[in-house]
Amino acid sequence: MKSDIIIIGAGLVGITAACALAELGLNIIVIDSADLDEVRKKESDGRTCAIAAGSKRFFQKIGVWADMESHAGAINDIRVTDGNSPVFLHYDHKLISNEPMGYIIENYHIREALFKRAAGFKNITIIAPAKYSNVQFEDDGCVVEVTPASQPTINIKSKLLIAADGKNSNIRKIAGIRTHEWNYDQSGIVCTISHENHHQFIAQERFLPEGPFAVLPMVGGYNSSLVWTEKKALVPIYMSMAKEEIEEQITMRTGEYLGKITLDSRMYSYPLSLCKAKTYIGKNLILIGDAAHAMHPLAGQGFNVGIRDVEELVYRLSVVGCRDNDSGFTIHDSLLKSYEAARMADSIALIGITDILNRAFSNDIIPLRTARRLGMAAVNKATPLKKFFMKHAMGL
Ligand SMILES: Cc1cc2nc3c(=O)[nH]c(=O)nc-3n(C[C@H](O)[C@H](O)[C@H](O)COP(=O)(O)OP(=O)(O)OC[C@H]3O[C@@H](n4cnc5c(N)ncnc54)[C@H](O)[C@@H]3O)c2cc1C
Repeated sequence: MKSDIIIIGAGLVGITAACALAELGLNIIVIDSADLDEVRKKESDGRTCAIAAGSKRFFQKIGVWADMESHAGAINDIRVTDGNSPVFLHYDHKLISNEPMGYIIENYHIREALFKRAAGFKNITIIAPAKYSNVQFEDDGCVVEVTPASQPTINIKSKLLIAADGKNSNIRKIAGIRTHEWNYDQSGIVCTISHENHHQFIAQERFLPEGPFAVLPMVGGYNSSLVWTEKKALVPIYMSMAKEEIEEQITMRTGEYLGKITLDSRMYSYPLSLCKAKTYIGKNLILIGDAAHAMHPLAGQGFNVGIRDVEELVYRLSVVGCRDNDSGFTIHDSLLKSYEAARMADSIALIGITDILNRAFSNDIIPLRTARRLGMAAVNKATPLKKFFMKHAMGL
């Protein structure tokens, strides 16, 4: 088989890349080791994603937003608090525009919209579940030996390989790309709740000594998604609690503003770690999404940064050009290098900010606590600084 691009990994970033690159008329083959019918079931992923305003625009451009819109809860304001302190940082979307800062959408609905769009392209082939056994990077492209479930092995030749296979990327290892990585001693407990009072489109982030506790406004007004960061050792205790006990624990952390809270889903937990590849490119290879940069979810940015990787790649391929008259689709080293240069600063900034915030806030050390509360009060009053942070969070 031949294709212009092989994408390894049909996660949120890989399938976004397939849809966006297929728009350029390129032939795309996506390979995933998982059974995607299972992955696409609602229960397989308890998470929601905060989709930044900039990512929404990109989704509109590639024709997937219409299928997500009715599932999207607007984030108009963000309130950040530190433990029980009355000081809070308030980001009001009106400081920037009338547009919401972002939207909370269940990963299930994002995935469905993307897979539906991908199915509409004749130039996207998805092979899953499938294993690959051999990857060779050659001067004019790459060759991957793929074995789809209960079918014979095939060789696929392509001009470019995109690794979108997540934070433990095997392609990254095969290409010999080293990483900076460490585990946080934390997991993200995720679930959805319904509540008596309307959330008023406000996302709340409360920094507690064990880690940040986020309440994210879902569509409709009376449901929210929680990302509750906890010390790893305590997670099994919370995960095994009875429904009433867990509702009590949640209410202790949210306070009273939502009224009576009811747990609406099962609880999921995701171990948290940071992993950044030292380079995002190799010979006819590009790393995107978590394969390049997996970060702490406290700012809800991991997928958004992956979307910006895709946006940059599409821009480079369409504007800088990738078609030679003689050899058709061609990838030049200069294109790979310019892609990497464009994506490094943004991803390093977000990995750094999320790591520093998690370290500075996930403790109860008194001098640090005093310093960060003074810092929050100062930022809250400094409108230009607030606008700068907001624009970055909105991906604008
Ligand atoms: C608790 C939590 C909350 C989050 N909240 C947000 C948020 O609000 N906003 C936001 O922007 N981000 C958020 N994120 C981050 C976001 O979920 C990730 O950045 C995003 O899902 C990464 O997508 P990906 O496609 O790069 O990787 P993955 O989702 O890991 O997908 C990788 C794919 O590659 C496949 N694969 C793996 N190995 C192989 C192999 N050997 N062969 C073939 N296929 C393979 C897998 O089956 C999978 O389909 C959150 C993360 C967590 C943990």
